[in-house]
Formats: sequence, structure tokens, C-alpha cells
Amino acid sequence: KGSDGKYTVTLIPGDGIGPEISESVKAIYSAANVPISWEEVSVTPILKGGKTVIPDVAIQSVRKNTVALKGPLATPSQYPDIRLTRAQTDNGDAVGKGHISLNLTLRRTFNLFANVRPCASIKGFKTPYDDVNTVLIRENTEGEYSGIEHEVVDGVVQSIKLITWEASERVARYAFHHAQASGRKRVTAVHKANIMKMSDGMFLSACRQVAKDFPGITYDEDLLDRVCLQITQNPLPYADRVMVMPNLYGDILSDMCAGLIGGLGLTPSGNIGRDASIFEAVHGSAPDIAGKGLANPTALLLSSLMMLRHMNLNDYASKIEKAALTTIAEGKTITGDLGGKSSTKEYTAAIIEKLGKA
Ligand code: NAD
Repeated sequence: KGSDGKYTVTLIPGDGIGPEISESVKAIYSAANVPISWEEVSVTPILKGGKTVIPDVAIQSVRKNTVALKGPLATPSQYPDIRLTRAQTDNGDAVGKGHISLNLTLRRTFNLFANVRPCASIKGFKTPYDDVNTVLIRENTEGEYSGIEHEVVDGVVQSIKLITWEASERVARYAFHHAQASGRKRVTAVHKANIMKMSDGMFLSACRQVAKDFPGITYDEDLLDRVCLQITQNPLPYADRVMVMPNLYGDILSDMCAGLIGGLGLTPSGNIGRDASIFEAVHGSAPDIAGKGLANPTALLLSSLMMLRHMNLNDYASKIEKAALTTIAEGKTITGDLGGKSSTKEYTAAIIEKLGKA
């Protein structure tokens, strides 16, 4: 907290729609007098020693403030042509080698080991499901996202799913803590240990061991495919628990849950770490609508509210949440992804008007 009574938070506007939705959050925060001053930094990679890295100023800002709000970052060459990449690398070109995802870099730099993804139906906003209220915790540092891939021989590629006891135990412990703190009475580990007997098997062993330290919380396990089937048939039973799982499963299952409540424009997340916590929307940079003033800022806004609650600024969070959710429920001033016709700015103004009346 600074001498002006405000907390300094790092803001990374990000790529694509990132700057537009960040502006919206900033405007809503000013209107609600939230005691936060934004320290805006760019994480556009720079070349250092032949490698692309995140600028030091950005790293130092997050390290100092320990809390950040982040817009989406575009990952270049998402699906590289493996043969092309190899030929270029052989020629000494860094393409494919240097372009590691910036999101992954941030997660590793700050040990952001748990990604918390809540997903709740918005009362009054009609979707095929009325009672979604899931909380999913995704292991954030390893698993299928270890980035260990190689071509064994021409035409045969191997990708390594790395699971460690340490990271599994750490994310499991966080899941139980989160359940306890949020009043959820059950933790379900989601897995495919029937197929991945050793890797997911060890993830489950770690969860079982941690469960012994939380006698007040019921622990069980379920297969990923079964969970997908059951949530889409009836999400209600999943409202009582926290689900914890390896990296890739969490990535996919959380987008599925987002689809049940109205899409990616609505789903927030928090990356909780040892050295810092970074809050961000689940969605990406939406290049198809970037720069057009059409993006829905709700996911980033709700992520920022998770951040406020993390900082114990609960009253501000509740007030802004109420203004945003009633604006959506009324349905008069909503963005295109939710079936409306309003721009990012018009939707933002409608929320600000509600804040004034609160
Ligand atoms: P995306 O989430 O950017 O877009 C998917 C679809 O959802 C698009 O049609 C888009 O217009 C729509 N959409 C997403 N957010 C929206 C919003 N707030 N309001 C209205 N519509 C919205 O996914 P993508 O197209 O697969 O990825 C684009 C880029 O984003 C890629 O470079 C990818 O690597 C990156 N990405 C970054 C993050 C992150 O930084 N956390 C997460 C996912 C993807």
C-alpha cells in the first residue's frame, strides 16, 4: 500500500482485444473508487542473448507488487510445421525454438502453480443451463505443457507429459485450502489414471495423501470423460465441490464449462503462485474482433474481482460484480458474444451507471 492509501497492481494489457478490455476495467475501477493504482507494463518479448524474453521491467513490476491483472497474450506460430521448424533450426534460425509461450514463461517465472477457474451461471441471463457453479483448479506448470518434445526419427515425434510429486502435492493442497476457505465440502480429483497409470496415478496418490490432512472435506476421484458427460447432462451436483486436475484436462474442461454459461467472454481465472498471483480471463486475444470495440470485458473484469477478493477488498468486488451481472441480466446493453448489439464502451458505461445508483 502506497502513501496515497492505494495498492499498486501491475497491469499487463496484452495483445488483440487486451487493451480494449483493460480500458474498460480501468474505467469501472475509477468510477467505483477502488483504491488501486495501476502500474502498466508491456510484456512484448525482446531479444536478449539470441533468445526472446519478457522485458525485465515487467518481471520486476510483478515481483514487487506480487499481484497483477493480465490481458491475453498471443502465442506466435501456434501450430508450427514440424518439418519446416526443424529445417530452420538446422540452419541456425531460432524459429520454433525461441518462441516459447509467454504465458508459460510467466507461470514458470513466478511459480504460478495453481490456476483457479470458477464458472457460474448468471441469474437472469438465459442459457441452456441455469445452475452451473463449478470451480476447477488446474495444475499450471507441468503435465502435458512441459514443452518437452522431440522428433525421435524422421516422422516420429515424442511429447513428454511430466508429472512430479511436488507439483501434484502443491496443487492438491491448494485445492483443499480453497475448498475450505470457500465453504465447498468436497474435492474431486479428475484424471485418466485408467490409461495413464503412472503419471495420473501419482497425481492421485498425492491428492489422497493431502486429503488425510483435511478430514472435514470429502475426497473422491472421477474420470475426465465421465465428468464431461455428467456436467453436460446435469451440472448441479458439481456445485458442491472443487475439482482439481492435471494441466491439459483443466484447460479443456474449463472451456467446456465456459460454454455452458454463455462463452469465453464471461469466464475469469486466477494464477496463484509462490512469488506472485496473476489474474486473467480464460479467453485469448480474439484476433477476429480485435480493435473493433466489440469485445466483452466481463471475463477480465471478473478476473479483477477475484484479484480484489484475494487482496481482501471484498466490498468493492461485490459492488462491481452486482453492477456487471445485473447489466447482463437486463440484456439491454450487452455485447455481441452474448447476443446483444452494444460496444465494449456502451456496456462499460451501463455498468458505471449502475455503480452510481448502488
Ligand atoms: P480466443 O479465446 O482468442 O477466441 C476464441 C473465440 O472467442 C473467438 O471467436 C473470439 O472472438 C471469441 N472471444 C474470446 N474472447 C472474447 C471476448 N472477451 N469477447 C467476445 N468474444 C470473445 O482463442 P483463439 O482464437 O484460439 O486464440 C487467439 C490467440 O490468443 C492465440 O494466439 C492464443 O495463443 C492466444 N491465447 C492466449 C491466452 C492467454 O493469454 N491466457 C489464452 C488462450 C489463447
